[in-house]
Amino acid sequence: MLNISGFYDSSCTNGEGWRSVIFFSGCPHKCKGCHNPETWDFSSGEPISVDELTSMVLKNSSYIDGVTLSGGEPFQERNIDELLTLINNLKKHNLTIWCYSGYKYEDLLINPMFRKLLDKIDVLIDGPYIEELFDPNLKFRGSSNQSVKYLTK
Ligand code: SF4
Repeated sequence: MLNISGFYDSSCTNGEGWRSVIFFSGCPHKCKGCHNPETWDFSSGEPISVDELTSMVLKNSSYIDGVTLSGGEPFQERNIDELLTLINNLKKHNLTIWCYSGYKYEDLLINPMFRKLLDKIDVLIDGPYIEELFDPNLKFRGSSNQSVKYLTK
């Protein structure tokens, strides 16, 4: 089971196009000024199976471009196998995968489990939110230290 704190059927502000958004429970980064502090607790939210989550997304598949994994922190070792299954299910329907992480891409790359997940993600927005570097003009990210990495283009 995965633990999620929230789910949007569709959003146009969490990546390109219309996207379902999954907010995973648990975040170790605890950034000052975080917009989702209710997701920090790893036991918060509701447990949900991969099959249920797949169905929740696929009922939107006629009008969404993809799915955004957010949080919280999606990169958690306890979640990796189920996330890989979820992404494989969604990719069969030509949905693109965007993912937010408080970790830097370079740090994710050195963890073999996280690397497997990176291989399935189309776009990664990486790095912690740094309140002092907040810029409202940035697209898809909150602070200028974060970057939007197109991994499959
Ligand atoms: S990584 Fe994201 S969810 Fe976690 S504390 Fe930072 S801004 Fe909040």
